[in-house]
Amino acid sequence: MNQLIHGRVNSIDVSKLLRISVTDSISIEKCFQSAVLFLADQDGKLITIREVGGLKTNMIEVLYKLKDSMLEKDFPYETNGCYVDVINIELQEPVWTGFLGLIATTNDIEKGVSIKSFLEGFRYSLYLSSQILIYQNELVSKSLNEATNSLHSLLKEEKYVIKLTVIGRLLLELVKNTFDRSIQEVLLFEKVDDQLLSLIYSSAVVHETPFQCYLYEQAIQSDWQTYNKDELVEKEWLSYQLEYASAVIAPVYHEGEVTTAIVVLLKNEIEKVELKQIHSFVNEVKPLLLQAYLNERTIIEQKRKSLLLQVTKKFHSSMDVGEVLGEMINAMEEMYSSFTVKLLLSRDWKVNEDLPVQQFYYGMDSSGVAESAFLTGKIEIEDRGKDQSSRLYAPLRGKQGIYGVMEIETTNTLTFPKHEIEFIETLADIGGNALENAELYQQSQNLINDLQLINQTSHQLNSNLKLSDTIRFMTDQILRSFSANEVGYIMFASNGELHVLEGSTGFYFTEKAQIQLATLSKKIKKEKESLFVGDAKADGIYDIDPYQSLLAVPMVQSGELKGMVVVLHKHPYHFTFENFKLLQSLIHHSTLAFTNSILHEELERLVITDHLTRLFSRNYLDQKIQESMFIDAYGSFILIDIDNFKMINDTYGHQVGDDIIIQVANVIKKSIRDNDIAARWGGEELAIYLPKVDMKTGKKIAERIVKSVAFETSPRVTISCGISYWDKNADQKSLKLLFNIADECLYLAKKSGKNQMIDQSQLREE
Ligand code: GH3
Ligand code: MG
Ligand code: MG
Repeated sequence: MNQLIHGRVNSIDVSKLLRISVTDSISIEKCFQSAVLFLADQDGKLITIREVGGLKTNMIEVLYKLKDSMLEKDFPYETNGCYVDVINIELQEPVWTGFLGLIATTNDIEKGVSIKSFLEGFRYSLYLSSQILIYQNELVSKSLNEATNSLHSLLKEEKYVIKLTVIGRLLLELVKNTFDRSIQEVLLFEKVDDQLLSLIYSSAVVHETPFQCYLYEQAIQSDWQTYNKDELVEKEWLSYQLEYASAVIAPVYHEGEVTTAIVVLLKNEIEKVELKQIHSFVNEVKPLLLQAYLNERTIIEQKRKSLLLQVTKKFHSSMDVGEVLGEMINAMEEMYSSFTVKLLLSRDWKVNEDLPVQQFYYGMDSSGVAESAFLTGKIEIEDRGKDQSSRLYAPLRGKQGIYGVMEIETTNTLTFPKHEIEFIETLADIGGNALENAELYQQSQNLINDLQLINQTSHQLNSNLKLSDTIRFMTDQILRSFSANEVGYIMFASNGELHVLEGSTGFYFTEKAQIQLATLSKKIKKEKESLFVGDAKADGIYDIDPYQSLLAVPMVQSGELKGMVVVLHKHPYHFTFENFKLLQSLIHHSTLAFTNSILHEELERLVITDHLTRLFSRNYLDQKIQESMFIDAYGSFILIDIDNFKMINDTYGHQVGDDIIIQVANVIKKSIRDNDIAARWGGEELAIYLPKVDMKTGKKIAERIVKSVAFETSPRVTISCGISYWDKNADQKSLKLLFNIADECLYLAKKSGKNQMIDQSQLREE
């Protein structure tokens, strides 16, 4: 491998350049588990490599392949379980052109990392490192003054945004090189929230926390501190670090607050001349350090703001809760790539499957920290002990409630700084509001659906359809909106009977249902209140087997209980409370229309009924005979005329005459079945149509009526009848024929003595 790594080019140690850049760039380790960066010259010759996360055998093989044929390759390309990509690098000063390349494992790339964009970013880091190298080279030849001057001008000239780490490194290199003889360690501290965290340090020992705390305490106390060995020994924190003879602590203030601090630890007692030099140097670089510090703060703040803006924009432009949550998680990843973010949602919102979303439920985390965040609506941090990753739970708050928790896990023991928490809190709140919006939107959508249902229903109710059609329509609506199994309209008749209205579903017409409905109607009649039963089996009160969910709503009109609507489902707890409320509202709105509709049908019945006798009208009779001739096989017709009726009228008056007609009508009604149709033919003539009744039976019925009239009327009258008959095999069948024949028979009955009946067969005999 050594043969691959060459030395200097154009007086820059390119190998060093890459080394500095790689140590500087933590981002490589964040992006790749293992990767190899390499520099090649213009001819494609590998100059140097730097590896992160261990050099894999397959990567070595790839390097060997690249060694001789780099210019011939098409980048990016995949080989041997690795991805390789290369970009051109041009350094202005010193002038150097070549290639920067990276080999990463297929695994990393499949996680979505782009090598190209990584290399582009890395170009910048490389450029800065080259500046550091130049200054180190210059320092060898120039005086301290010159060096700081040129450092100063370099930083001023920089067009790029100054990075604190880079400048810090630059400074520390400078200090170390200038005071090489006496200085043991140089550290740079950065203030993050209430802590000064060591940003750059040259040995692991000084990274001890108590030491940092001490330094911090010193730094905020005064502008300059110099300690000699005795003082240092006095302090317990340095009792094990006796190799330092003295220390200089120089904090950098901004608006009365410490921002950064330079700490110089010396091997020997500090000399006056040395101290003066350090003083003047540190004073010189302080403004630069502050500038870099403020710049970096601003950059981070800007990044935060633009991320928040991005998420907020999405929030305002999209009703899709998944998109907003996706943007939120994206922002978290942008800001903190080492954090693992998970959303624990209290309800089953529809979001993309690739979002890290889990259902939140009580008792899901043994520590109860997530739960506590959910319940209190405050950010909670789980203390998982030393060497454990820490977890933060941010509640997803809306204006009306909390919709879940965002869980953030760090890969190390890093604590969450205060201003980061504020950022996370803001993000979580946007997420919570998005969820709330989605929830409210869903609710309003449901309301709209309900209103549409009510609207459609009332339209339907106003459209003067037949009652059974209206009920059929309502039944369909309820079956569909509630996913119900059965819907029934049951009217309570004044005699206590239950009438299942036509248009109800099949179950209500079964015999079994009658018993069950009787129990149910008793309860409704007694309490006049709706019933909402989730599990009838468990309840034990309502036996509606095989159904288990029950909604029953009374139909009340003008304070009067008219009936009830019963909705059933086979599964327990099928109906929601919203279903129940909607059904109540539907029934409330439709009962008036129903009762009107029932009244209307009553009226229609009146129209088809003769006023005096309450028998059907002649029209209706005609219509029914025609229907019967269409659907049935045969039927009989009886025409009746009261005998000597003129004489009744003359003897007792018209009033009594009318009453006699009513008496005869009642005898007829009593003598026939529901399906038979008795009508007033006109005057004192009446008629009966008997569908699906043959001549023999027809004659029997007529005979019975003739006898009953003669026996039951008072003042006593008799009647004469003519009977005709049709069947579908006859040559001719028409109303007219049927009537004519009956009329002829009647005429014959009158002629041959009255108080009797004559049928069609007797007519032919004559
Ligand atoms: P017949 O035995 O031949 O039928 O003798 P009749 O007297 O009944 O003669 P017919 O059937 O021709 O007479 C019908 C009479 O019935 C005529 C009319 O005064 C009377 N009438 C018809 N309609 C009504 C009615 O609605 N009320 C009353 N009170 N009388 C009626
Ligand atoms: Mg007559
Ligand atoms: Mg008569």
